[in-house]
Amino acid sequence: NRQVLLDNRPKGEATASNFKLVTSETPALQDGQVLVRHHYLSLDPYMRGRMNEGKSYAQPQPLGQVMQGGTVGEVVESRNPKFAVGDKVQGMGGWQEYSVVDGNQAGMLRKLDTTHVPISQYLGAVGMPGVTAWYGLVKIIEPKEGQTIVVSAASGAVGSAVGVLAKQRGARAIGVAGGPDKCKYVTDELGFDACIDYRQHKDARSLAQALKEACPNGIDGYFENVGGLVLDAVMLQANAFSRIAMCGMIAGYNGEPIPMAYPQLILTNRMRVEGFIVSEHMEVWPEALKELGTLVATGKLRPRETVAQGLDAAPEAFLGLLKGRNFGKQLVKLA
Ligand code: NDP
Repeated sequence: NRQVLLDNRPKGEATASNFKLVTSETPALQDGQVLVRHHYLSLDPYMRGRMNEGKSYAQPQPLGQVMQGGTVGEVVESRNPKFAVGDKVQGMGGWQEYSVVDGNQAGMLRKLDTTHVPISQYLGAVGMPGVTAWYGLVKIIEPKEGQTIVVSAASGAVGSAVGVLAKQRGARAIGVAGGPDKCKYVTDELGFDACIDYRQHKDARSLAQALKEACPNGIDGYFENVGGLVLDAVMLQANAFSRIAMCGMIAGYNGEPIPMAYPQLILTNRMRVEGFIVSEHMEVWPEALKELGTLVATGKLRPRETVAQGLDAAPEAFLGLLKGRNFGKQLVKLA
């Protein structure tokens, strides 16, 4: 079983030397356990935060242990009557080719129906990122018909679902993304009303002007994934009583400072700004997954994936995710 461990913690920007590839034996199964062969490993921005020591909403990733992360795969050996060989399952198998899981522990392993939804989508639109989009949009932004919703990192796993869910609710969806290809995908394939390439803008005032053209009635809700320039520009176009769902601030995950230029606008615009962590809202997962599964199965949400091949490619693919080199959900396909 090949595995990627966290070998040492990053100082500033994460690098490939923070990780270490090792090979180990898979232990023999005990009663209740199953052996899962991973088909796909999910790479997610939150993993960067866990590479650091220090206080956060989750425990840091322990040094010298397999990098934690979501996986989908197939049961290849079972000593648990609830799981048969061949069952497709989702779990937190981590950055390795196989995992041994206690099938009796609640929430450790979930059986998947791959008839209408490809297995990899359970790590994206029909999984944690999709529910993240659903929660921030539906429970924090609460879009009304005709309102204008902006989302950053719009072509990504979370952002793509935010826009499609907003359109389902009769809102206008405006994306912000890096580069012309991502913007074209966001409008042409995801059906957003417009998408702005923030890389064409050097400062918040210039980006705010582009937002003003795309959002003639101002911005009622902003789903924040990035921080920095985009947040400042959105603030300049925000309407009175608008809402911001603070989902992520990836521009600062490697330790870069991301100051907020216009905090006073929260007051003068009477805005509501709320952060959230999707795993603390398990109560919405069934409802959210049902809607997201239907959107994917019916082709209304067509998420993109960037798939790195083989476990060796995981560290570089992860570093790329933190620089926007991915286009859509970043996965690693395991042999
Ligand atoms: P994405 O698929 O959106 O990939 C990350 C994207 O972020 C990149 O493609 C890039 O898009 C953008 N990006 C990367 N680096 C930078 C940078 N330095 N400055 C600006 N933009 C950058 O990832 P996810 O959909 O998985 O995650 C999106 C956000 O949601 C993240 O911030 C993540 O932490 C957050 N999140 C929060 C959760 C919660 O519970 N609160 C749960 C899950 C995710 P582009 O090229 O368009 O800039």
